[in-house]
Amino acid sequence: MNFTEETFEIRTHRRNEMIDITSHVADALSQSKVASGTVTVFCPHTTAAITINENADPDVPHDILLTLEQLVPQHRLGYRHNEGNSDAHVKSSLVGASETILIREGRLVLGTWQGIFFCEFDGPRSRKVHVQIMGT
Ligand code: ZN
Repeated sequence: MNFTEETFEIRTHRRNEMIDITSHVADALSQSKVASGTVTVFCPHTTAAITINENADPDVPHDILLTLEQLVPQHRLGYRHNEGNSDAHVKSSLVGASETILIREGRLVLGTWQGIFFCEFDGPRSRKVHVQIMGT
């Protein structure tokens, strides 16, 4: 059983943004030499998230962000958290802090149109992403 862990930094540029990190994760996997197992991608922040979705058409991440912004407004009567970023905390929990991806023949098992995204909800900031690889 092989086990590797890597943390990389990512710089976000807008308050709400989805950044394709598939190549970062694929690079970590190729360095690990693991052929069969799982990769966990984890976001250690309370106002950001990790998701898997379409990375072929940039209108898809745009529309996901638009929908989240309409579902969870930045300013809302009743919010108590005094940092003013309650919407970002809610979006982080809705989308989730991590994704697990299978490894087969040394490659990420992703659908043709799937990519791994870091989701920023309170940028711009400097962020971290943890990648843990387990397998043989
Ligand atoms: Zn906050």
